[in-house]
Amino acid sequence: MPVLQFLGATGCVTGSKYLLTFRDGERLMVDCGLFQGPHALRDRNWEPLSVDSEKLGSIILTHAHLDHTGFFPRLAKIGFDGKVYASETTVDLCGILWPDSGKIQEEDAMYANKEGYTKHKPALPLYTEDEARTALRFLRGVKYQTPTHISKNLSFTLYPAGHILGSCLVSLDIHEPGEAPLNLLFSGDLGRYNQPITPDPTPIDKADLMVVESTYGDRLHDGTDPKLKLAEVIKSTFRRGGTVIIPSFAVGRTQELLYILREMEEEKVIPDIPVFIDSPMASSVTRVLLAHPEEHDLEMTSLEQHGIDPLGTHDVTFIRSVEESKALNTNAVPKVIIASSGMCTGGRVLHHLRHRVSDPANTVLFVGYQAEGTLGRYLKDGAKETKIHGERVVVRTHIESIEYFSAHADYNEELRWLSNLNEPPRAVFITHGEDAARKSLSEKISTQFKWKTVLPEYLQTFDLNAIS
Ligand SMILES: [Zn+2]
Repeated sequence: MPVLQFLGATGCVTGSKYLLTFRDGERLMVDCGLFQGPHALRDRNWEPLSVDSEKLGSIILTHAHLDHTGFFPRLAKIGFDGKVYASETTVDLCGILWPDSGKIQEEDAMYANKEGYTKHKPALPLYTEDEARTALRFLRGVKYQTPTHISKNLSFTLYPAGHILGSCLVSLDIHEPGEAPLNLLFSGDLGRYNQPITPDPTPIDKADLMVVESTYGDRLHDGTDPKLKLAEVIKSTFRRGGTVIIPSFAVGRTQELLYILREMEEEKVIPDIPVFIDSPMASSVTRVLLAHPEEHDLEMTSLEQHGIDPLGTHDVTFIRSVEESKALNTNAVPKVIIASSGMCTGGRVLHHLRHRVSDPANTVLFVGYQAEGTLGRYLKDGAKETKIHGERVVVRTHIESIEYFSAHADYNEELRWLSNLNEPPRAVFITHGEDAARKSLSEKISTQFKWKTVLPEYLQTFDLNAIS
């Protein structure tokens, strides 16, 4: 004892859930993520957990992304009655993301029933928007770098992870009677160094055991300055009298883009341009970001101290109402529209694409990964025509992409962060990556540090005191 079981993010990047069971029967889960993507994975959201939800005492969340928190409203629905700890910003973000997730679940179930393509009859949402809102009452906000006691044997401390606002590393201290104290560190999703807005991942110098993500375990980020391409795309599109549409995630990416656009205007790399953020969620997330100065890195804090709005380009409009969004369709002035979803799988970006993708004056600029099977991928791969909202549209617009943006550390950044440890951990469990990525990171850790690495399988359990 204690026993650690991997309930997700094993050989894939979704469903993060790590269950700890202690000698006295106490149970703790770190992260409570939804499985997303292919059917075979999503079906796991419906499998019974290896622990009854009412026997689960507490949960710690590393950050708000749904693949780390989006299963919780389901747990709350089926009887969870403990406490959920998270950074204060994560609590605020869950207030935005969970109800939205419930709404999408309801819409998907309704659509599946209408189209008759469900094997569950009738298709049901995992939880509804209302149930997601009800689940928010379990959340307890915790300050960074401040130890929190869960029980007489358990305490934890959160440190900024630099991945998205509110993201943290979880350092868990376990003191079971009759056993040596044990420190377990969870990386959650590890962020990058020298990024706008977010601080660097916090250096950690001691851990007995680690659970580390590996999304980019076999890749390095493109280090080219994104401003070069961004400036080129904006200037050439404006010369044609066109509009730049940027499909973008509402959490993190949109704010990062605004920060960079503001810098580019100040540096006179681009003229002052009209920017429209057409996403109610992005507007809400931006408010959360600005309300939490503890999330701002030194550069952003310094700007604020000098009275500069770090996200304030000269002419930026946050659009909430559908009417204002529709009005953009007839607005012929060259502009930048940033809208969700990032992979064009839904949201307001679809309306803008439908109206503008046939005009060669415009540009669609991708700033994030486009998964296979999404409209974003289809356009990025050069589709000549497509269907949006059931309407056939011919694609004549310019399609561009910038590979720079990512919220995950690449393998060099992971190794840099791990090199802060003063002593080797007893083992590093590698999760949250496709198999090729986690194997690659495992080899790199073994080669560089000679540490023991473990690639856990789905539902595999480990007695942590037995690992030497
Ligand atoms: Zn994440």
